[in-house]
Amino acid sequence: MFETARFKLTAWYLLIIMVISCAFSLVIYRETAREVERGLRAQQVRIWAQQGFFAPPFANIDADQDLLTEELGQLRLVLFLANLGILVVAGGAGYFLAGKTLTPIETMLEEQKRFVADASHELRTPLTAIKTEIEVAARNKSLDLIGAKKLIKSNLEEVNKMQSLSDYLLQLSRYQSNAFKLPAEEVDLQGVVSRAVDKLEPIAKMRGVVIKLDIAPVRVSGNKDSLVELVGILLDNAIKYSQPKKQIIVAVEPAPGGANVSVQDFGTGIKASDLPHIFDRFYRADSSRGKSLTPGYGLGLSIAKSIVDLHKGKISAQSSPAGSIFKVFLSL
Ligand code: ADP
Repeated sequence: MFETARFKLTAWYLLIIMVISCAFSLVIYRETAREVERGLRAQQVRIWAQQGFFAPPFANIDADQDLLTEELGQLRLVLFLANLGILVVAGGAGYFLAGKTLTPIETMLEEQKRFVADASHELRTPLTAIKTEIEVAARNKSLDLIGAKKLIKSNLEEVNKMQSLSDYLLQLSRYQSNAFKLPAEEVDLQGVVSRAVDKLEPIAKMRGVVIKLDIAPVRVSGNKDSLVELVGILLDNAIKYSQPKKQIIVAVEPAPGGANVSVQDFGTGIKASDLPHIFDRFYRADSSRGKSLTPGYGLGLSIAKSIVDLHKGKISAQSSPAGSIFKVFLSL
């Protein structure tokens, strides 16, 4: 499909270039012919005058006309060869440029296809679980009230998973849409961190993880709700990938032109081979996939990155088997 589009685009480039080039050649040819003819006439008058107007006027006219025809033939050949050269060079350059123009579109479409495939795959897992459970229950003639309640509870869990996946997908598409602009204001990062911590403290307590804060009073320009979401995602991961009794340190410090926010954990760490991919959509390190106890879809960090990008900030991760640290730079 893209090869056909590339040829079509090349053809359009070529058509435009060749129309301009041929029009120029025509103008050059006409003007040169007119100039040469005018020069020839002037020369004939000069010769006639030098001969004292005795000879019949324009005696050499036939010879000159032959010369003119020959010169113009030569010019036509040169212009034809030049246009042929332009056709070949413009064809090659047009094909190259068409490729350059279409490559980002092709990449975007491929990404979109992958996104739809990944999302459908993630949605199919809970749907299959629900379907299988209902089918088994429907075939079970001795299904009692307790069994039915168990089935409903299990189905509800799967529905909740699907709901959280669709929430993630909606958030991601909202943040990554080109038309989306975050309403910006002056935001106090202390407030942002405390709102995120308030939300996640109960989960941390449940998992026996301790959150420590080291927050300097810094204000940045941004959107409070999405910054709370950003810190929440990093904190949620830090809790998810930490063993009980481990610490998590959330820090905010001023930096030249802005502020640095960091979330450090002393949990499982991320393998060096996974680190370059963790911000990709649906990417989960094998170690996280394997553990059915670690819920997630591999979308949190892509949402975090989209939020940071919308704030024109920077996000990075460092990790070792002793733990990970995620750093975010936000400008003033
Ligand atoms: P998930 O829902 O799987 O947590 P994310 O996009 O938030 O999705 O993270 C992508 C992957 O990066 C995770 O599956 C996990 O392997 C890894 N990861 C993210 N944060 C941490 C962390 N603090 N410690 C260890 N691994 C992490």
